[in-house]
Amino acid sequence: MKQPGSGPEALVIRNVEFIGGKAEEAGWRPESSLPEIAFAGRSNVGKSSLLNSLVRRRSFARVSKTPGRTREINFFRINNQFLFVDLPGYGYARISKEKKAQWRPLIGGYLGRTTQLRGLVLLLDIRRDPSEDDRSMLDFLAQVGIPTLVALTKSDKVARSAVPTRVSEISRALSIEAEQIIPFSVVTGAGRMELLEAIMQLVGSAPETGTR
Ligand code: GDP
Repeated sequence: MKQPGSGPEALVIRNVEFIGGKAEEAGWRPESSLPEIAFAGRSNVGKSSLLNSLVRRRSFARVSKTPGRTREINFFRINNQFLFVDLPGYGYARISKEKKAQWRPLIGGYLGRTTQLRGLVLLLDIRRDPSEDDRSMLDFLAQVGIPTLVALTKSDKVARSAVPTRVSEISRALSIEAEQIIPFSVVTGAGRMELLEAIMQLVGSAPETGTR
């Protein structure tokens, strides 16, 4: 069988299937040993739009927005080859402290214990400076040793010439390599192929042998 990540054919999303949501740290998750790629970011950053655009299914991530599912970890099987894992949006002002405390163990538990997790795409709005929640997420990912890509969403909202400047500012602010940062827009299509390629490389990579 062809390995994921080998050539353009690997980037074609043929099949997408919602396989369920995990609502509690010790709760149900799908039985699967396929490689997983997780997506995280603050609410409203454009995560559903990015996921829909990556798989070219307009209603794909709608499932994650239905009441009851917004605070779950939602699992999607892609091409029967790997899973996209949509983590609940964090840092929403309307979410009380108590609710915040609930998602931390859920997300932390998932990230810390999922041995088949090959990487995470952290979404940041290109116009905003990273929040405290974004930073604590990155710190946690570094501690646990999860390879991380950063997608700078809504890149159409700044002038083209400002995009490289934002990439270097955010790279400096977060001490991450500019190569890990991909400007992305669902309006212009910018970054889609680049992000898919980077994801497929992670999918095809050997599992990290770290503390997980
Ligand atoms: P989520 O809460 O992170 O899932 O965010 P959504 O995908 O629902 O997007 C939040 C808002 O940002 C919506 O109004 C989207 O239409 C808008 N949005 C998302 N991505 C883009 C983008 O690339 N460009 C522009 N201009 N707007 C976007």
